[in-house]
Amino acid sequence: MVCRMMWLLPAGPRYSGPPVDLFDKCGDARLDEYQAAEELGLLPFFRTVGTETGPLAEVDGRKVIMLGSNNYLGLTTDPRVRQAAIDAIERYGTGCTGSRLMNGTLALHGELEAEIADWIGTEGCLVFTTGYAANLGVVGSLVADGDALFADMGSHASLVDGGRLAHGAVRWWRHNSPDSLRARLSRWRDEAHGAEGGGALVAAEGVYSMEGDEAPITELVAACREFGARLLFDEAHSIGVIGPQGAGVAAREGIVPDLLMGTFSKSLASCGGFVAGPLAVLDYLRRTCRPFQFTASGVPAALGAALCAVRLARAEEWRRTVVRERAAQLREGLLGLGYDLGPDSGGAIVAIHVGSDWDAARQWRALLDQGVYVNCAVPPAVQQGRALLRASVMATHSDADIAAALDAFEVVRSTSD
Ligand code: PMP
Repeated sequence: MVCRMMWLLPAGPRYSGPPVDLFDKCGDARLDEYQAAEELGLLPFFRTVGTETGPLAEVDGRKVIMLGSNNYLGLTTDPRVRQAAIDAIERYGTGCTGSRLMNGTLALHGELEAEIADWIGTEGCLVFTTGYAANLGVVGSLVADGDALFADMGSHASLVDGGRLAHGAVRWWRHNSPDSLRARLSRWRDEAHGAEGGGALVAAEGVYSMEGDEAPITELVAACREFGARLLFDEAHSIGVIGPQGAGVAAREGIVPDLLMGTFSKSLASCGGFVAGPLAVLDYLRRTCRPFQFTASGVPAALGAALCAVRLARAEEWRRTVVRERAAQLREGLLGLGYDLGPDSGGAIVAIHVGSDWDAARQWRALLDQGVYVNCAVPPAVQQGRALLRASVMATHSDADIAAALDAFEVVRSTSD
């Protein structure tokens, strides 16, 4: 048997260096740190949620005030959204069992796309299975050979990975700096690529997911116009929360970006993503976009819930008012306790600067022990040395919930100095 195996080896020079095991990398130092955090009970990831994610929830078997969810409008538990998911299951079953390209495009997709296009004010909309796939696909397909992606340095991983998939170049500009963007675009246009007619796609986010700060969209649009670039504006964290009918930061400024991306996994109480824009671009994506074509379509329950959530998000202005009030209450309380906070964008996110990864993990744990769940953001989600605790409020939090959370922050503050 051994002889037969030897015989099957290809002829030619044999490898004689030290054996390299593909799995060697799995023991690198960063992973040791991860393991140490786990052993100390300080690992803020993969915690088990045992209930629905409302203003209160159960994490690792403990009742908590939930300040670590993107359910900003509180719609994941709304009886109408639940019923819409059930209705979709009853009509279409539990899965589409295929890609949108083949057998996975439902009538629900059409309704959802029409509703979103009307909301954003674009010619059309294309629904993807996740928000990640939407960014990956739009950037990966549009930024072709000779083109370039100009991404804010604080861009979400899905935009970064889109740049990796794309055949064109990737250029970075300083976070939220229109001057830095202009300088990069200008240099690009001066280079040979520009003369050859390459196109430029600028990527920015309505509200940045970790710091909660807002992109200066008016200046970004002006820079795009000056240099003939197109803007892809990711409103994952602003859609539903900011702007008229919750249509986002761009809508609040009276702007319809070239392409507007959003997800259903935050305010819109479901899972999935979309890009809204001109029909010609959407048709091009339908025909060329691999993360659109080569993955199964979202399940009917997710589509039904998202459609209902979009309609409620548009109609129920009170939810945005409450989000603003609760975020302001949390911010004021934390500032009063001496916490160092990220900028106020008027959205649901309150970023609490900590600094070192370990301090952030310790404070995250202390808050959990006090019955408050927040997210702990360490690199690569944030820059090295800029770990933070990310709190976010929901329209369904009461002022008493926020007051109780602030009591817990006070205890943690007094013990962490
Ligand atoms: N863009 C941004 C800014 C995000 O924060 C996220 C998710 N956190 C995504 C895109 C991807 O969306 P999804 O999780 O719905 O795939």
